[in-house]
Amino acid sequence: MPATAARRALFLGAGAALTLALPRRVFAQAAAPASAPPPSGPFTLPPLPYANDANEAAIDARTMQIHHDLHHAAYVNNLNAALREHSQLHALKLEDLLAKLGELPEGIRAAVRNNGGGHANHTMFWGVMGGRGGQPSGELLAAIDRDLGGFDQFRTRFEQAANTQFGSGWAFVTVTREGRLAIQQKPNQDTPLMEGGRALLGNDVWEHAYYLRYQNRRPEYTRAWWNVVNWDSVAQRYAAAKAGTLTI
Ligand code: MN
Repeated sequence: MPATAARRALFLGAGAALTLALPRRVFAQAAAPASAPPPSGPFTLPPLPYANDANEAAIDARTMQIHHDLHHAAYVNNLNAALREHSQLHALKLEDLLAKLGELPEGIRAAVRNNGGGHANHTMFWGVMGGRGGQPSGELLAAIDRDLGGFDQFRTRFEQAANTQFGSGWAFVTVTREGRLAIQQKPNQDTPLMEGGRALLGNDVWEHAYYLRYQNRRPEYTRAWWNVVNWDSVAQRYAAAKAGTLTI
């Protein structure tokens, strides 16, 4: 073999080895962003408990994807960032952190309120959807009859609370340890957890929750939302609230 051919073979050989090795190095570099990565804890983004299109009867898959993968993720990342220098708070459960906002260092209070509230609200929100609507039964229906004037009146009043929340916020049904229900509206990412209470369910009326399909027609969204409520999940939350085991 002439010397030049040998050199070419060697070169090709080395090149082949290099191309085999390269992808691993490229991926390793791609996995580490140039800026500091978001802190990995103490909180993590829970996966959606169903496919993005599971709530298509009220919410399109693209909205679900953006809402969970970007909006909810940002609340978790920002909450972790706020807590980064406060390791003494890392052992606190989210519901306890939110119930003790007034005791937190002033410098992180607003960040925990907004992002901790956002994390709790969205975790609850995914959990009460993924169903096929209909209506509740048993003890929960009896409580709705007793405290909220029956299922039809409850829906009307809840939609009204959701539709009249000025700007961004939520409509909630709160539940006490005794199983008493009430309707409440809250701005921004505030939650009944901030008063030591519990949300049985809630609907997100931030524009990001509905704008792609409904634009400015919030009442159409809040009406359609009933189509995807999972009443079995809500009934489990109701039982947990009465047992004192409902967390967020
Ligand atoms: Mn939202």
